[in-house]
Amino acid sequence: MTAPLAATETFPAASPAFVEKRPLATYLAPAQPSLVGLSRDQLVQALGTIEVPERQRRMRAQQIWHWLYVRGAQNFDAMTTLSKDVRSALAQRFTVARPEIAAEQISVDGTRKWLIRLPGEIDGAPHEVECVYIPEADRGTLCISSQVGCTLNCTFCHTGTQRLVRNLTAGEIAGQVVLARDQLGDWTPTNEQQPAQAGGEKRTRLVSNIVMMGMGEPLYNFEAVRDGLAIVADGEGLSISKRRITLSTSGVVPNIARAGAEIGSMLAVSLHAVTDELRDRLVPLNRKYPLRELLDACRNYPGVSNARRITFEYVMLKGVNDSLADAKALVRLLKGIPAKINLIPFNPWPGTSFECSDDATIGAFSDIVFNAGYASPVRTPRGRDILAACGQLKSETEKLRARALLAAGA
Ligand code: SAH
Ligand code: SF4
Repeated sequence: MTAPLAATETFPAASPAFVEKRPLATYLAPAQPSLVGLSRDQLVQALGTIEVPERQRRMRAQQIWHWLYVRGAQNFDAMTTLSKDVRSALAQRFTVARPEIAAEQISVDGTRKWLIRLPGEIDGAPHEVECVYIPEADRGTLCISSQVGCTLNCTFCHTGTQRLVRNLTAGEIAGQVVLARDQLGDWTPTNEQQPAQAGGEKRTRLVSNIVMMGMGEPLYNFEAVRDGLAIVADGEGLSISKRRITLSTSGVVPNIARAGAEIGSMLAVSLHAVTDELRDRLVPLNRKYPLRELLDACRNYPGVSNARRITFEYVMLKGVNDSLADAKALVRLLKGIPAKINLIPFNPWPGTSFECSDDATIGAFSDIVFNAGYASPVRTPRGRDILAACGQLKSETEKLRARALLAAGA
């Protein structure tokens, strides 16, 4: 049996350097850049570089936008509304490349995980992130990443143990959605011009919801996340409304208000503890932005209302944060904030000393939260067999490389 707080000894010692503890690598743009991920204005500029007459650029940019984000065109030849000359000039200077899939795994429950290889490497290690698709009866949720690794080091999170860190570009963020639609065949067919206006029901997209809950802390890569999500939400393109996009943060307080103003997505906050003492150890960023400041930022989140609640994520760690007193304190703490509470069974990973709370404890915890008036869904773990569940995302290559080194007798 695990005694309460038995895991304390295994927490890393408090370190003031918990933010950006690892150096940030830089992104080197390829010689022939991809148009996927450019804003409309950047597309207009790109057309200027191939000498499309100025008066035509906006219209051409709009056409390319449609081909990229409604039809999912995978090359310039497919863009038949552009003249041959423009298509060939584009092909000489640009690509429509998406991030490259290095591996795909499909879980017994239908969850798919893609290991995505991005340009760049450090010490021979490629930059990689994971992206997970979770199909459900009435929706399909894509969990996307914002950084290779994470500069933070929450003690229960596998991603936090990864040494390599790089911010994804806006194109790499929107590119994950493009790539998922490619893989799932989720593009609008050419004969279906305006599905919403055709009189019939709007077709349900396979990718209908986005959660920014993969690798990385999105609010530490603010501009790229904002610009990437603007492409994802654009009504004339990928068209996934901001109400169906949820950004999860571990609590980067100064950027929460900014996210409300400039991104406008739904917000999820990784709370995980009800006292600063415990949260300091589980989510070390709490030492910089303690609970009071975090909850004030939530209270003031632009647009928050009973119809647009903030989701509070709470990972269930056996003997650490799962007592009934914790549940009651959680309810008191969130009083006055339009909130949903999402209880996440801890997903173990190799080398962790945390354990998941048992079902009865989770049930009792959830009852207290429910009786206080909160919907308290317990997130069903998905894709556990392929290490695709929350917090387990970590580049496979570090493991593969270690194996290769062993095999080579290093
Ligand atoms: N960095 C952001 C978003 C990515 S993590 C954040 O921390 O919010 C997405 C969610 O998974 C967070 O709530 C995170 O705390 C949780 N998580 C991390 N590791 C986990 C694990 N091993 N089991 C269950 N949830 C975990
Ligand atoms: Fe980073 Fe989120 Fe993992 Fe914490 S839980 S280490 S913020 S990815």
